[in-house]
Amino acid sequence: MSKKINKLENIVERDLDVIWHPCTQMKDHEKIPLIPIKSGKGVWLEDFDGKKYIDAISSWWVNIFGHSNGYINSKIAQQLKKLEHVLLAGFTHEPAVKLAERLIAMSPAKINKCFFTDNGSSAIDAAMKMSFHFWKNIGYKKKRKFIALSNSYHGETIGSLSVSNIDLYKKTYKSLMKDTIIVPSPDCYNKKESETNKEYTTRMFSFMLDAIKKNHKSVCAVIIEPLVQCAGYMRMYHPIYLKLLRDACDEYDIHLIADEIAVGFGRTGTMFGYEQSKITPDIICLSKGITGGYLTLSTILTSNKIYNAFYDEYTKLNAFLHSHSYTANPLACTAANASLDLFEKKDIIEKNKLKSKYIKDQLMSMNSHNNVGDIRQTGMINAVEMVKDKHKRIPFDWKERRGIKAYKYALENNVLLRPLGNVMYFMPPYVIKKNEIDHVINVMEGAINIATK
Ligand SMILES: *Cc1c(COP(=O)(O)O)cnc(C)c1O
Repeated sequence: MSKKINKLENIVERDLDVIWHPCTQMKDHEKIPLIPIKSGKGVWLEDFDGKKYIDAISSWWVNIFGHSNGYINSKIAQQLKKLEHVLLAGFTHEPAVKLAERLIAMSPAKINKCFFTDNGSSAIDAAMKMSFHFWKNIGYKKKRKFIALSNSYHGETIGSLSVSNIDLYKKTYKSLMKDTIIVPSPDCYNKKESETNKEYTTRMFSFMLDAIKKNHKSVCAVIIEPLVQCAGYMRMYHPIYLKLLRDACDEYDIHLIADEIAVGFGRTGTMFGYEQSKITPDIICLSKGITGGYLTLSTILTSNKIYNAFYDEYTKLNAFLHSHSYTANPLACTAANASLDLFEKKDIIEKNKLKSKYIKDQLMSMNSHNNVGDIRQTGMINAVEMVKDKHKRIPFDWKERRGIKAYKYALENNVLLRPLGNVMYFMPPYVIKKNEIDHVINVMEGAINIATK
Protein backbone atom coordinates (compact mmCIF):
# COMPACT_ATOMS: atom_id res chain seq x y z
CA MET A 1 0.00 0.00 0.00
CA SER A 2 2.57 2.58 1.10
CA LYS A 3 4.76 1.49 -1.77
CA LYS A 4 2.05 2.37 -4.25
CA ILE A 5 1.48 5.79 -2.68
CA ASN A 6 5.18 6.57 -2.95
CA LYS A 7 5.34 5.48 -6.53
CA LEU A 8 2.56 7.78 -7.70
CA GLU A 9 4.12 11.15 -7.24
CA ASN A 10 1.75 12.88 -9.56
CA ILE A 11 -1.29 14.01 -7.60
CA VAL A 12 -3.59 13.72 -10.63
CA GLU A 13 -2.66 10.09 -11.21
CA ARG A 14 -3.01 9.35 -7.52
CA ASP A 15 -6.42 11.03 -7.48
CA LEU A 16 -7.80 9.18 -10.48
CA ASP A 17 -6.59 5.95 -8.93
CA VAL A 18 -8.70 6.37 -5.81
CA ILE A 19 -11.29 9.15 -6.06
CA TRP A 20 -14.70 9.04 -7.71
CA HIS A 21 -15.63 12.70 -8.31
CA PRO A 22 -19.05 14.32 -7.85
CA CYS A 23 -21.29 15.14 -10.80
CA THR A 24 -18.67 13.76 -13.19
CA GLN A 25 -18.52 11.13 -15.94
CA MET A 26 -15.08 9.91 -14.88
CA LYS A 27 -14.22 8.89 -18.44
CA ASP A 28 -14.23 12.59 -19.36
CA HIS A 29 -10.97 12.87 -17.44
CA GLU A 30 -9.27 10.91 -20.23
CA LYS A 31 -9.61 14.19 -22.16
CA ILE A 32 -10.31 16.92 -19.66
CA PRO A 33 -7.51 17.39 -17.18
CA LEU A 34 -8.22 17.31 -13.48
CA ILE A 35 -6.77 20.39 -11.81
CA PRO A 36 -5.04 19.97 -8.48
CA ILE A 37 -5.25 23.13 -6.41
CA LYS A 38 -2.44 23.95 -4.03
CA SER A 39 -3.81 27.09 -2.43
CA GLY A 40 -6.38 29.86 -2.63
CA LYS A 41 -6.38 33.53 -1.72
CA GLY A 42 -9.25 35.94 -2.32
CA VAL A 43 -10.91 35.13 -5.66
CA TRP A 44 -7.74 33.33 -6.85
CA LEU A 45 -7.00 29.60 -6.86
CA GLU A 46 -3.46 28.44 -7.60
CA ASP A 47 -2.44 25.05 -8.99
CA PHE A 48 0.81 23.15 -8.48
CA ASP A 49 2.41 24.69 -11.55
CA GLY A 50 1.82 28.16 -10.15
CA LYS A 51 -1.00 28.87 -12.59
CA LYS A 52 -3.81 30.98 -11.15
CA TYR A 53 -7.55 30.98 -11.78
CA ILE A 54 -10.27 33.41 -10.74
CA ASP A 55 -12.98 31.41 -9.00
CA ALA A 56 -15.83 33.04 -10.94
CA ILE A 57 -18.40 30.52 -9.69
CA SER A 58 -17.51 30.73 -5.97
CA SER A 59 -16.61 27.01 -5.92
CA TRP A 60 -20.19 25.87 -6.60
CA TRP A 61 -21.73 29.01 -5.13
CA VAL A 62 -20.43 28.58 -1.59
CA ASN A 63 -17.64 31.10 -1.32
CA ILE A 64 -18.60 34.60 -0.25
CA PHE A 65 -15.51 36.41 1.08
CA GLY A 66 -12.77 34.77 -0.92
CA HIS A 67 -10.52 31.83 -0.24
CA SER A 68 -8.38 31.75 2.86
CA ASN A 69 -9.98 34.88 4.27
CA GLY A 70 -7.78 36.23 7.06
CA TYR A 71 -10.66 37.13 9.38
CA ILE A 72 -12.57 33.87 9.02
CA ASN A 73 -9.32 31.92 9.34
CA SER A 74 -8.45 33.60 12.63
CA LYS A 75 -11.91 33.02 14.09
CA ILE A 76 -11.81 29.32 13.22
CA ALA A 77 -8.29 29.04 14.64
CA GLN A 78 -9.47 30.57 17.94
CA GLN A 79 -12.45 28.21 18.12
CA LEU A 80 -10.22 25.24 17.32
CA LYS A 81 -8.31 25.86 20.54
CA LYS A 82 -11.55 25.66 22.53
CA LEU A 83 -13.83 23.02 21.05
CA GLU A 84 -13.86 21.19 17.73
CA HIS A 85 -17.16 19.36 18.09
CA VAL A 86 -19.75 18.14 20.53
CA LEU A 87 -23.12 16.52 19.90
CA LEU A 88 -26.05 18.94 19.89
CA ALA A 89 -28.56 16.64 21.62
CA GLY A 90 -28.53 17.35 25.33
CA PHE A 91 -25.55 19.69 24.84
CA THR A 92 -24.97 23.06 23.27
CA HIS A 93 -22.20 25.57 22.56
CA GLU A 94 -21.70 29.29 22.06
CA PRO A 95 -21.12 29.31 18.27
CA ALA A 96 -24.44 27.52 17.59
CA VAL A 97 -26.46 29.68 19.98
CA LYS A 98 -24.95 32.87 18.63
CA LEU A 99 -25.55 31.84 15.04
CA ALA A 100 -29.17 30.85 15.69
CA GLU A 101 -29.82 34.16 17.46
CA ARG A 102 -28.34 36.11 14.58
CA LEU A 103 -30.14 34.20 11.82
CA ILE A 104 -33.45 34.65 13.65
CA ALA A 105 -32.76 38.36 14.17
CA MET A 106 -32.19 38.71 10.42
CA SER A 107 -35.47 36.94 9.61
CA PRO A 108 -39.09 38.14 9.64
CA ALA A 109 -40.80 38.44 13.06
CA LYS A 110 -42.60 35.10 12.84
CA ILE A 111 -39.39 33.11 12.38
CA ASN A 112 -38.22 32.08 15.85
CA LYS A 113 -36.54 28.69 15.74
CA CYS A 114 -33.44 27.27 14.11
CA PHE A 115 -33.01 23.54 13.43
CA PHE A 116 -29.47 22.63 12.34
CA THR A 117 -28.62 20.06 9.68
CA ASP A 118 -25.34 19.61 7.85
CA ASN A 119 -25.66 20.12 4.09
CA GLY A 120 -28.20 21.52 1.67
CA SER A 121 -29.89 18.28 0.66
CA SER A 122 -30.25 17.18 4.27
CA ALA A 123 -31.87 20.53 5.12
CA ILE A 124 -34.45 19.92 2.39
CA ASP A 125 -35.13 16.39 3.62
CA ALA A 126 -35.54 17.69 7.17
CA ALA A 127 -37.86 20.48 5.99
CA MET A 128 -40.03 17.94 4.14
CA LYS A 129 -40.23 15.69 7.18
CA MET A 130 -40.94 18.64 9.48
CA SER A 131 -43.77 19.95 7.32
CA PHE A 132 -45.34 16.50 6.94
CA HIS A 133 -44.99 15.77 10.65
CA PHE A 134 -46.46 19.15 11.63
CA TRP A 135 -49.68 18.46 9.74
CA LYS A 136 -49.86 14.96 11.22
CA ASN A 137 -49.37 16.29 14.75
CA ILE A 138 -52.21 18.77 14.40
CA GLY A 139 -54.57 16.21 12.93
CA TYR A 140 -54.34 16.59 9.14
CA LYS A 141 -53.75 12.94 8.34
CA LYS A 142 -53.97 13.09 4.54
CA LYS A 143 -51.23 15.61 3.83
CA ARG A 144 -48.20 13.79 2.43
CA LYS A 145 -47.34 15.35 -0.95
CA PHE A 146 -45.28 18.30 -2.11
CA ILE A 147 -45.64 20.76 -4.95
CA ALA A 148 -42.51 21.99 -6.75
CA LEU A 149 -41.71 23.88 -9.96
CA SER A 150 -40.56 22.42 -13.24
CA ASN A 151 -36.79 22.91 -13.70
CA SER A 152 -36.32 23.08 -9.92
CA TYR A 153 -33.32 21.72 -8.02
CA HIS A 154 -33.38 20.95 -4.31
CA GLY A 155 -30.56 18.46 -3.86
CA GLU A 156 -29.40 14.91 -4.44
CA THR A 157 -30.71 12.73 -1.62
CA ILE A 158 -33.76 10.62 -2.39
CA GLY A 159 -36.03 13.09 -0.60
CA SER A 160 -34.63 16.30 -2.04
CA LEU A 161 -34.30 14.78 -5.53
CA SER A 162 -37.98 13.77 -5.30
CA VAL A 163 -38.98 17.42 -5.18
CA SER A 164 -36.49 18.40 -7.90
CA ASN A 165 -37.31 18.39 -11.59
CA ILE A 166 -34.17 18.39 -13.73
CA ASP A 167 -34.16 15.20 -15.81
CA LEU A 168 -30.37 15.08 -16.03
CA TYR A 169 -30.09 14.42 -12.31
CA LYS A 170 -33.44 12.76 -11.63
CA LYS A 171 -34.72 10.62 -14.48
CA THR A 172 -32.57 7.56 -13.80
CA TYR A 173 -33.70 7.33 -10.19
CA LYS A 174 -37.34 8.24 -10.65
CA SER A 175 -38.72 4.85 -9.68
CA LEU A 176 -37.01 5.17 -6.29
CA MET A 177 -38.88 8.33 -5.45
CA LYS A 178 -42.11 9.62 -4.08
CA ASP A 179 -44.50 11.50 -6.35
CA THR A 180 -44.26 15.26 -6.45
CA ILE A 181 -46.78 17.55 -8.10
CA ILE A 182 -44.82 19.57 -10.65
CA VAL A 183 -46.13 22.95 -11.77
CA PRO A 184 -44.73 24.89 -14.77
CA SER A 185 -42.01 27.32 -13.68
CA PRO A 186 -42.59 31.09 -14.00
CA ASP A 187 -39.07 31.32 -15.54
CA CYS A 188 -39.14 34.52 -17.62
CA TYR A 189 -36.93 33.15 -20.39
CA ASN A 190 -40.13 31.79 -21.88
CA LYS A 191 -42.16 34.98 -21.77
CA LYS A 192 -43.55 36.70 -24.88
CA GLU A 193 -41.65 39.74 -26.04
CA SER A 194 -44.69 41.93 -25.48
CA GLU A 195 -44.98 40.89 -21.82
CA THR A 196 -43.14 42.25 -18.80
CA ASN A 197 -41.50 39.82 -16.40
CA LYS A 198 -44.11 40.69 -13.83
CA GLU A 199 -47.01 40.05 -16.20
CA TYR A 200 -45.57 36.73 -17.28
CA THR A 201 -44.82 35.57 -13.76
CA THR A 202 -48.33 36.55 -12.67
CA ARG A 203 -49.85 34.70 -15.61
CA MET A 204 -47.82 31.58 -14.82
CA PHE A 205 -49.08 31.60 -11.25
CA SER A 206 -52.47 30.33 -12.46
CA PHE A 207 -50.91 26.85 -12.88
CA MET A 208 -49.78 26.93 -9.28
CA LEU A 209 -53.15 28.13 -8.03
CA ASP A 210 -54.91 25.36 -9.95
CA ALA A 211 -52.58 22.73 -8.50
CA ILE A 212 -53.09 24.07 -4.98
CA LYS A 213 -56.88 24.20 -5.33
CA LYS A 214 -56.99 20.69 -6.73
CA ASN A 215 -54.58 19.03 -4.32
CA HIS A 216 -54.52 21.03 -1.08
CA LYS A 217 -56.04 18.27 1.01
CA SER A 218 -53.09 16.00 0.27
CA VAL A 219 -50.33 18.63 0.09
CA CYS A 220 -47.99 19.50 2.97
CA ALA A 221 -45.97 22.23 1.30
CA VAL A 222 -44.88 24.03 -1.83
CA ILE A 223 -41.10 24.01 -2.02
CA ILE A 224 -39.50 26.72 -4.11
CA GLU A 225 -36.18 28.44 -4.91
CA PRO A 226 -36.82 32.18 -4.45
CA LEU A 227 -36.22 34.26 -7.63
CA VAL A 228 -33.52 32.13 -9.31
CA GLN A 229 -33.50 28.44 -10.23
CA CYS A 230 -29.76 28.17 -9.98
CA ALA A 231 -28.98 24.59 -10.96
CA GLY A 232 -31.88 24.95 -13.39
CA TYR A 233 -29.67 26.98 -15.72
CA MET A 234 -29.90 30.20 -13.70
CA ARG A 235 -33.44 30.85 -14.85
CA MET A 236 -35.11 33.79 -13.11
CA TYR A 237 -38.60 35.01 -12.25
CA HIS A 238 -40.30 38.07 -10.76
CA PRO A 239 -40.78 38.40 -6.96
CA ILE A 240 -44.57 38.77 -7.39
CA TYR A 241 -44.75 34.98 -7.66
CA LEU A 242 -43.80 34.41 -4.03
CA LYS A 243 -46.31 37.00 -2.90
CA LEU A 244 -49.12 35.24 -4.78
CA LEU A 245 -47.87 31.90 -3.52
CA ARG A 246 -47.84 33.09 0.09
CA ASP A 247 -51.47 34.20 -0.17
CA ALA A 248 -52.57 30.91 -1.74
CA CYS A 249 -50.65 28.81 0.80
CA ASP A 250 -52.34 30.72 3.63
CA GLU A 251 -55.74 30.28 2.13
CA TYR A 252 -55.37 26.53 1.59
CA ASP A 253 -53.35 25.48 4.67
CA ILE A 254 -50.13 24.63 2.88
CA HIS A 255 -46.58 25.46 4.00
CA LEU A 256 -44.28 27.56 1.88
CA ILE A 257 -40.74 26.17 2.08
CA ALA A 258 -38.16 28.64 0.76
CA ASP A 259 -35.03 26.86 -0.48
CA GLU A 260 -32.54 29.70 -0.02
CA ILE A 261 -29.58 27.30 -0.16
CA ALA A 262 -28.13 28.85 -3.33
CA VAL A 263 -29.74 32.29 -3.34
CA GLY A 264 -29.33 33.16 0.35
CA PHE A 265 -26.62 35.39 1.80
CA GLY A 266 -26.84 38.20 -0.68
CA ARG A 267 -26.79 36.39 -4.01
CA THR A 268 -30.03 37.94 -5.27
CA GLY A 269 -29.09 41.45 -4.14
CA THR A 270 -30.91 41.23 -0.81
CA MET A 271 -29.72 39.12 2.10
CA PHE A 272 -32.41 36.55 1.31
CA GLY A 273 -34.37 36.20 -1.91
CA TYR A 274 -37.80 36.03 -0.24
CA GLU A 275 -37.26 39.56 1.18
CA GLN A 276 -37.91 41.00 -2.28
CA SER A 277 -41.45 39.62 -2.13
CA LYS A 278 -41.98 40.86 1.44
CA ILE A 279 -43.21 37.48 2.63
CA THR A 280 -42.50 35.17 5.54
CA PRO A 281 -41.95 31.56 4.46
CA ASP A 282 -43.01 28.85 6.93
CA ILE A 283 -39.66 27.10 6.60
CA ILE A 284 -36.42 28.59 5.27
CA CYS A 285 -33.53 26.30 4.23
CA LEU A 286 -30.02 27.77 4.33
CA SER A 287 -26.62 26.27 3.43
CA LYS A 288 -23.88 26.89 0.80
CA GLY A 289 -22.84 30.50 1.55
CA ILE A 290 -23.77 30.22 5.23
CA THR A 291 -20.18 29.47 6.31
CA GLY A 292 -18.66 31.81 3.75
CA GLY A 293 -17.77 28.65 1.83
CA TYR A 294 -15.57 27.15 4.53
CA LEU A 295 -17.32 24.19 6.09
CA THR A 296 -20.40 22.10 5.64
CA LEU A 297 -23.42 23.37 7.54
CA SER A 298 -27.09 23.94 6.93
CA THR A 299 -30.07 25.03 8.90
CA ILE A 300 -33.79 25.34 8.62
CA LEU A 301 -35.51 28.29 10.21
CA THR A 302 -39.14 28.11 11.20
CA SER A 303 -41.90 29.55 13.37
CA ASN A 304 -42.96 28.91 16.94
CA LYS A 305 -46.26 27.80 15.46
CA ILE A 306 -44.57 24.81 13.80
CA TYR A 307 -42.23 24.24 16.75
CA ASN A 308 -45.10 24.18 19.25
CA ALA A 309 -46.90 21.41 17.36
CA PHE A 310 -44.01 19.10 18.31
CA TYR A 311 -43.70 20.28 21.92
CA ASP A 312 -45.41 17.67 24.08
CA GLU A 313 -44.98 14.83 26.55
CA TYR A 314 -42.32 12.43 25.20
CA THR A 315 -44.65 9.43 25.33
CA LYS A 316 -47.02 11.04 22.84
CA LEU A 317 -44.18 10.56 20.32
CA ASN A 318 -44.74 13.90 18.65
CA ALA A 319 -41.10 15.00 18.79
CA PHE A 320 -39.01 15.65 15.70
CA LEU A 321 -36.51 12.83 16.15
CA HIS A 322 -34.31 13.89 13.25
CA SER A 323 -30.55 14.25 13.62
CA HIS A 324 -27.18 14.29 11.90
CA SER A 325 -23.94 13.38 13.65
CA TYR A 326 -22.22 16.67 12.87
CA THR A 327 -25.27 18.85 13.57
CA ALA A 328 -24.17 22.47 14.17
CA ASN A 329 -20.46 21.67 14.18
CA PRO A 330 -18.80 24.43 16.26
CA LEU A 331 -16.11 25.17 13.68
CA ALA A 332 -18.72 25.50 10.94
CA CYS A 333 -20.91 27.72 13.16
CA THR A 334 -17.84 29.85 13.93
CA ALA A 335 -17.13 30.28 10.22
CA ALA A 336 -20.79 31.26 9.75
CA ASN A 337 -20.62 33.82 12.56
CA ALA A 338 -17.41 35.26 11.11
CA SER A 339 -19.04 35.50 7.69
CA LEU A 340 -22.01 37.37 9.22
CA ASP A 341 -19.55 39.72 10.96
CA LEU A 342 -18.10 40.57 7.56
CA PHE A 343 -21.56 41.22 6.08
CA GLU A 344 -22.24 43.67 8.92
CA LYS A 345 -18.86 45.38 9.14
CA LYS A 346 -18.33 45.85 5.45
CA ASP A 347 -21.83 46.82 4.38
CA ILE A 348 -21.69 44.12 1.72
CA ILE A 349 -25.28 44.22 0.47
CA GLU A 350 -25.01 47.93 -0.35
CA LYS A 351 -21.59 47.60 -1.97
CA ASN A 352 -22.76 44.67 -4.07
CA LYS A 353 -25.42 46.88 -5.67
CA LEU A 354 -22.69 48.89 -7.37
CA LYS A 355 -20.80 45.74 -8.33
CA SER A 356 -23.83 44.07 -9.85
CA LYS A 357 -24.69 47.19 -11.83
CA TYR A 358 -21.14 47.32 -13.14
CA ILE A 359 -21.25 43.63 -14.10
CA LYS A 360 -24.58 44.07 -15.89
CA ASP A 361 -23.28 47.04 -17.90
CA GLN A 362 -20.22 45.06 -18.97
CA LEU A 363 -22.21 41.94 -19.82
CA MET A 364 -24.55 43.88 -22.10
CA SER A 365 -21.67 44.26 -24.56
CA MET A 366 -22.39 40.64 -25.53
CA ASN A 367 -26.01 41.36 -26.37
CA SER A 368 -25.39 41.72 -30.08
CA HIS A 369 -23.59 38.37 -30.36
CA ASN A 370 -25.36 36.08 -32.83
CA ASN A 371 -25.44 33.16 -30.44
CA VAL A 372 -26.39 34.96 -27.28
CA GLY A 373 -30.07 34.31 -26.63
CA ASP A 374 -30.40 35.98 -23.27
CA ILE A 375 -28.41 37.94 -20.71
CA ARG A 376 -29.94 37.95 -17.26
CA GLN A 377 -29.07 39.10 -13.82
CA THR A 378 -30.56 38.99 -10.34
CA GLY A 379 -28.26 40.71 -7.85
CA MET A 380 -24.88 38.98 -7.99
CA ILE A 381 -26.10 36.10 -10.17
CA ASN A 382 -25.30 36.70 -13.84
CA ALA A 383 -25.97 34.41 -16.78
CA VAL A 384 -25.53 34.38 -20.53
CA GLU A 385 -27.48 31.78 -22.48
CA MET A 386 -25.88 30.51 -25.68
CA VAL A 387 -28.30 29.53 -28.45
CA LYS A 388 -28.08 28.15 -31.96
CA ASP A 389 -30.62 30.63 -33.33
CA LYS A 390 -30.89 33.96 -31.61
CA HIS A 391 -34.26 35.05 -32.96
CA LYS A 392 -36.11 31.77 -32.65
CA ARG A 393 -34.14 30.95 -29.50
CA ILE A 394 -33.35 27.44 -30.73
CA PRO A 395 -30.97 25.79 -28.27
CA PHE A 396 -27.77 24.01 -29.25
CA ASP A 397 -28.05 20.22 -29.06
CA TRP A 398 -26.85 19.23 -25.56
CA LYS A 399 -24.87 16.35 -27.07
CA GLU A 400 -22.50 18.87 -28.66
CA ARG A 401 -21.35 19.77 -25.15
CA ARG A 402 -20.39 23.30 -26.10
CA GLY A 403 -20.12 24.29 -22.46
CA ILE A 404 -16.97 22.16 -22.16
CA LYS A 405 -15.27 24.20 -24.87
CA ALA A 406 -16.09 27.34 -22.94
CA TYR A 407 -14.85 25.75 -19.71
CA LYS A 408 -11.51 24.77 -21.29
CA TYR A 409 -11.00 28.16 -22.91
CA ALA A 410 -11.70 29.93 -19.62
CA LEU A 411 -9.20 27.75 -17.75
CA GLU A 412 -6.53 28.48 -20.35
CA ASN A 413 -7.21 32.14 -19.65
CA ASN A 414 -7.05 31.93 -15.87
CA VAL A 415 -10.74 31.81 -15.06
CA LEU A 416 -12.83 29.02 -13.54
CA LEU A 417 -16.21 29.14 -15.31
CA ARG A 418 -18.23 25.95 -15.32
CA PRO A 419 -21.25 26.39 -17.60
CA LEU A 420 -24.55 24.65 -16.90
CA GLY A 421 -25.30 23.15 -20.31
CA ASN A 422 -25.32 26.12 -22.69
CA VAL A 423 -25.53 28.70 -19.94
CA MET A 424 -22.39 30.56 -18.90
CA TYR A 425 -22.82 32.09 -15.51
CA PHE A 426 -20.78 34.39 -13.34
CA MET A 427 -21.42 34.19 -9.58
CA PRO A 428 -18.26 35.45 -7.89
CA PRO A 429 -17.15 35.84 -4.28
CA TYR A 430 -18.13 39.35 -3.20
CA VAL A 431 -14.51 40.38 -2.71
CA ILE A 432 -13.93 40.41 -6.47
CA LYS A 433 -12.31 43.63 -7.71
CA LYS A 434 -13.16 45.71 -10.74
CA ASN A 435 -10.15 44.65 -12.81
CA GLU A 436 -10.91 41.01 -11.96
CA ILE A 437 -14.52 41.46 -13.09
CA ASP A 438 -13.21 42.96 -16.35
CA HIS A 439 -10.97 39.96 -16.88
CA VAL A 440 -13.79 37.47 -16.26
CA ILE A 441 -16.11 39.29 -18.67
CA ASN A 442 -13.45 39.37 -21.39
CA VAL A 443 -12.86 35.67 -20.93
CA MET A 444 -16.59 34.92 -20.95
CA GLU A 445 -16.84 36.70 -24.26
CA GLY A 446 -13.91 34.75 -25.70
CA ALA A 447 -15.32 31.52 -24.34
CA ILE A 448 -18.69 32.17 -25.94
CA ASN A 449 -16.99 32.88 -29.29
CA ILE A 450 -15.12 29.57 -29.11
CA ALA A 451 -18.05 27.54 -27.84
CA THR A 452 -20.56 28.78 -30.42
CA LYS A 453 -18.28 28.43 -33.45
C1 LIG B 1 -26.92 23.09 -3.89
C2 LIG B 1 -28.38 23.14 -3.63
C3 LIG B 1 -29.02 22.22 -2.79
C4 LIG B 1 -28.29 21.04 -2.21
O1 LIG B 1 -27.27 21.40 -1.34
P1 LIG B 1 -26.04 20.38 -1.10
O2 LIG B 1 -25.29 20.99 0.02
O3 LIG B 1 -25.27 20.36 -2.38
O4 LIG B 1 -26.64 19.07 -0.76
C5 LIG B 1 -30.36 22.38 -2.55
N1 LIG B 1 -31.06 23.39 -3.08
C6 LIG B 1 -30.49 24.31 -3.88
C7 LIG B 1 -31.31 25.43 -4.41
C8 LIG B 1 -29.14 24.20 -4.21
O5 LIG B 1 -28.58 25.07 -5.06
